Amino acid sequence: MKKKDISIHENISGNYFYHIAIDDIPLCGNKRTMRRELRLESWGMKSPHIGERYCKECDKLRKELSI
Ligand SMILES: [Zn+2]
Repeated sequence: MKKKDISIHENISGNYFYHIAIDDIPLCGNKRTMRRELRLESWGMKSPHIGERYCKECDKLRKELSI
């Protein structure tokens, strides 16, 4: 079986609001996102000038799925 492709997506409007996706489908089901080449390790990190936000639903599901 193919290994699941886990990636970080950003809202399509490019507002630094991030989701976690498996095979390019965000866990929360949001369809208006685009893939970003960010390392999963950067999930939850906030830089002072950008103000990244992370989808709470994706974060909850991420923990449940141990991603
Ligand atoms: Zn989400």
